[in-house]
Amino acid sequence: MERTLIILKPDAVQRGLMGRILTRFEAKGLKMVAARFERLGEDRLSQHYKDHEGKPFYAGLVRFMGESPVLVMVLEGVEAIATCRKMMGATFGRDAESGTIRGDFGISRSYNLVHGSDSPEAAEREIGLFFDANEIVEWQPAGHAWVYDAEDLG
Ligand code: UDP
Ligand code: MG
Repeated sequence: MERTLIILKPDAVQRGLMGRILTRFEAKGLKMVAARFERLGEDRLSQHYKDHEGKPFYAGLVRFMGESPVLVMVLEGVEAIATCRKMMGATFGRDAESGTIRGDFGISRSYNLVHGSDSPEAAEREIGLFFDANEIVEWQPAGHAWVYDAEDLG
């Protein structure tokens, strides 16, 4: 099982798309193990996006991400990191394939609705940045025996 940090960005919140995006992750078989609705401050955002510091889009990105509340969450599942990235689609909505979240709901470059960790190292760092260990909730969804087979679960 893997965990990934997902953020429903300000444009998703402002456009009333949180439910529709969350439904896709739920239906796929990803389990929410932590969530918080909050407006992110500059400190947290600069830590979160530290790898992008100095890039031309950095200032605009940090401004956009702090402009309105976001839904930050941790999703768990087999190969959750790659699975969520696939579901999100390419970075820019207008390049993303139809059927992906960004491809179906967005056309912008920076307003691309959703963040997802891009590697196990990033997921660990990002989850630690947003959640304390005691905020991660261990639970067993009733339907999971019909989502993952014995081989999936190793
Ligand atoms: N971004 C942007 N312009 C760019 C590249 C990225 O506004 O030229 C924004 C966009 O919101 C993206 C975020 O910066 O989601 C982080 O960029 P990254 O390359 O990590 O894309 P992601 O991992 O989100 O697909
Ligand atoms: Mg990224």
